Amino acid sequence: MTNPLIYDFDFPELAARVKSWGEPKFRGKQVWDGLYKNLWTTPEEFTNLSKSLREKMGELLKFDVLKPVVTQESKDGDTRKTLFELHDGQQIETVIMHYDREEGQDRNTVCISTQVGCGMGCKFCATGQMGFKRQLSSGEIVAQVIYAARELQDAGETLTNVVVMGMGEPFHNYETTLEALARLNDENGFNFGARRFTISTVGLVPLIWKFADAGVQYNLAISLHAAEDELRSSMLPINDKHPINKLLEACRYYVEQTSRKITFEWALIEGVNDTPEQAYILARKLKGLMCHVNAIPLNPTQGFHGQSTDNDRAKIFKETLEQVGITCTIRAHRGIDIQAGCGQLASRL
Ligand code: SAH
Ligand code: SF4
Repeated sequence: MTNPLIYDFDFPELAARVKSWGEPKFRGKQVWDGLYKNLWTTPEEFTNLSKSLREKMGELLKFDVLKPVVTQESKDGDTRKTLFELHDGQQIETVIMHYDREEGQDRNTVCISTQVGCGMGCKFCATGQMGFKRQLSSGEIVAQVIYAARELQDAGETLTNVVVMGMGEPFHNYETTLEALARLNDENGFNFGARRFTISTVGLVPLIWKFADAGVQYNLAISLHAAEDELRSSMLPINDKHPINKLLEACRYYVEQTSRKITFEWALIEGVNDTPEQAYILARKLKGLMCHVNAIPLNPTQGFHGQSTDNDRAKIFKETLEQVGITCTIRAHRGIDIQAGCGQLASRL
């Protein structure tokens, strides 16, 4: 049996655990603060506690939730990917991205995983191509953010955004993912603002309805990629179960309930979904919906042979959408030299 993962506890659970060792009540808060305010990652760092308590924590709780196996940095130095081993030998990847002076400040974003592999089987996604292995626990999700925040802190920088866009489908691990974000959002701990999180889903419709009613302020992104069912189903098998009109109905409800803009993701694949005609069909579907389109030229993966759209075609796609009033950003390829781009994450097992 492995010890409980320290990041799996919320505050009351952690406090109860520490108290059960015969410690006074305030010790629980000291441990919590050490984890989430100081970003201490080993018992030895808790020098405000007695040696015997530090030893007890090390014996009874698991601190090294994520063991870094390999870290790779892109040539431009702006993207860093770490492959972690989990307690059962499974592997996940987490990516830290640096953006210069966007919106007036430097941004450091971590892209986190919610599952080992993914069961949604999207054809162009390396994580989908490896299949579903297991769910991550809330602590394994939290630990990725703390790891990134600590790395950045040690380099004199600050984590500014978290995107739940790594390996896995977060709404297929819905409760656990929301638990993890709530732990990171807790104002008495890590205190990471809700609006700095973005969750991306392939479109599990019932959970979008639920999310709309959850009363949380996280940003929502939807992986759309096609505006016609036949094309979408050919790339995203989940579309057979949750077709586009049902998906957009749920999106409209989300915007109505939250008054928040929704982002649609669109991997641009040459000759498939990047034509002006496709842009018009998309624009018709999105009419009247408060939204933004994030178009990402397709990143290469082993199991998919589509080609990425070039800059000129991407520009025409964007302009076509904008002519009819839908804002669109073309995302630059990032971290492709180290397979850290969207849809390229996988374990090595
Ligand atoms: N499972 C979630 C989040 C992880 S994927 C989801 O699908 O939304 C993050 C984003 O990368 C999604 O929009 C996904 O569709 C996109 N993506 C997957 N493979 C890609 C590829 N090869 N090139 C570009 N984007 C890709
Ligand atoms: Fe899973 Fe998202 Fe990849 Fe689809 S794109 S297989 S939902 S991780």
